[in-house]
Amino acid sequence: MKGICILGSTGSIGVSTLDVVARHPDHYRVVALTAHNNLDRLFEQCVSHRPGYAVLLQEEKAAEFRERLRLRGLAEIEVLSGLRALEDVASLPEVDAVMAAIVGGAGLLPTLAAAKAGKNVLLANKEALVMSGPLFMAEVMKSGANLLPVDSEHNAVFQCMPANYHAGRRAPMVRRILLTASGGPFLNKRLDELHEVSPEQACAHPNWVMGRKISVDSATMMNKGLEVIEACLLFDMPPEQVQVVVHPQSVIHSMVDYGDGTVLAQMGNPDMRIPIAHALAWPERFESGAEPLDLFAVGQLNFRAPDFERFPNLRLAYEAVRAGGIMPAVLNAANEVAVAAFLDQRIRFTAIPTLIEHCMQEIVPRPVDSIEGVLAADRESRSLASQFINQTG
Ligand code: NAD
Ligand code: MG
Repeated sequence: MKGICILGSTGSIGVSTLDVVARHPDHYRVVALTAHNNLDRLFEQCVSHRPGYAVLLQEEKAAEFRERLRLRGLAEIEVLSGLRALEDVASLPEVDAVMAAIVGGAGLLPTLAAAKAGKNVLLANKEALVMSGPLFMAEVMKSGANLLPVDSEHNAVFQCMPANYHAGRRAPMVRRILLTASGGPFLNKRLDELHEVSPEQACAHPNWVMGRKISVDSATMMNKGLEVIEACLLFDMPPEQVQVVVHPQSVIHSMVDYGDGTVLAQMGNPDMRIPIAHALAWPERFESGAEPLDLFAVGQLNFRAPDFERFPNLRLAYEAVRAGGIMPAVLNAANEVAVAAFLDQRIRFTAIPTLIEHCMQEIVPRPVDSIEGVLAADRESRSLASQFINQTG
C-alpha cells in the first residue's frame, strides 16, 4: 500500500487522480489533499477519501474548514495552511507518491519539495519544471526521485522510451521527439477574428476538458510551447530535436522517432485518467476507467505543421528555451499574468503574445544558479507584465 499526496486535488487533474485512486483502494491510501478556493469540493473529497491532512493556502479558510470537518465528525483530519504546509505534506515519510497538480508557478516550491524528498513525483504542473528547469532536474537526480510525466504528451513519450527509462536522461538513438498538438479551438479561425475572441470561446477546447488557465494556453498554443521546454528537460533533448506536430484528433498523444527509422506512438482516447493511471501504477499498469479506443469511430488521423504566425507563443517558447537561464521563467510568468488578464477581460486574446514578447525583450537575460534566482525572475516578469497592462489597457 502506497501513500499519496495530491497537490491541487480540487482541480481537473486532481479530480481525475482521485477517480483513478478510488478504483485501487488496495494500492493507494490518500495521505494529503490540498486546495486553494474550492472548499466544497475539498470537503466532499475529505468525506470520501479520509486523508490524514487537508491543506489550504489561507489560514481563515483553514479555520472555517476545520470547523466544517468537526461538525461532520471528521476532526481527525488535520487541517493545515500556508505554502510551507504544502511543502511539508509533499515530504511526509508516509507519502510515497506526490501528484503535482497545482496550476502555475504557485506549484513550484511544493513540487520541488517532493523532488528533494525523493518521492515518486507525478508531474502535471509543467510550469514548475519550465521555470526551474535544470535546477529541478538536478534535485531529482540528487535525491533519486522518480519523475513520472503526467502531461499526456510527455507521458506518451515516456511510454515510447526504452524499457527501464528514467526521466532526465538522454535515451540512445532517439532522433526526434514528436509532440502532438490538437491546435486548440482556433486552429481554423480567420486570423482577423482572433482579436475579438472571448474567454468562453478560448476555454471551449475541442477534445479535452481542463482548467481555465491551461485551456487558454491551448488556444494560444503556449501550452505546446511550455511542453516543448518540458520535453527538452524531461528527455534531455535540444529544442531542435523536439518537433510540434498538429494532430487535431488528439488520439496519438506523442511519438518518439528513433535513428533506425522506427517511430513509436502512444495512442488512446483523450482522457487524462490514462496518463494518470500509468504514472500511478508505474512500473506496472492498472485500470484507469477510460473507454477503449474505437479506431473505426476515429476514422482518420491527420497531421500538419504548426503555424508560427497564427501562434506566436510557440515561437516565443522556442526562443526562451534556446536562450536558457531565466528566460523560460520570464516567459512563463508573463504568460500567467497575460492569461489571467485575458480571462478577466482586461486584455485581448491577441495581446497575450505581445505582452510576453515585451517582457522577454526588456528583462536582461542571466543564468540561473538558485531557486531564489528563479523566483526573482518570476517576480520581475510579473511586475513588468502588470505594468504593461496598466499602461496599455
Ligand atoms: P485547475 O485550475 O483545474 O486546478 C488547479 C488546482 O490548483 C486546484 O486544486 C487549485 O485549488 C490549486 N491552486 C490554484 N492556485 C493555487 C495556489 N496559488 N496555491 C495552491 N494551490 C493552488 O488546473 P488543472 O487543469 O487541473 O491543471 C493543473 C496542472 O496540470 C497545470 O499545471 C496544467 O498545466 C497541468 N495539466 C493539466 C491537464 C488537464 O487536462 N487539465 C493536462 C496536462 C497538464
Ligand atoms: Mg499536454
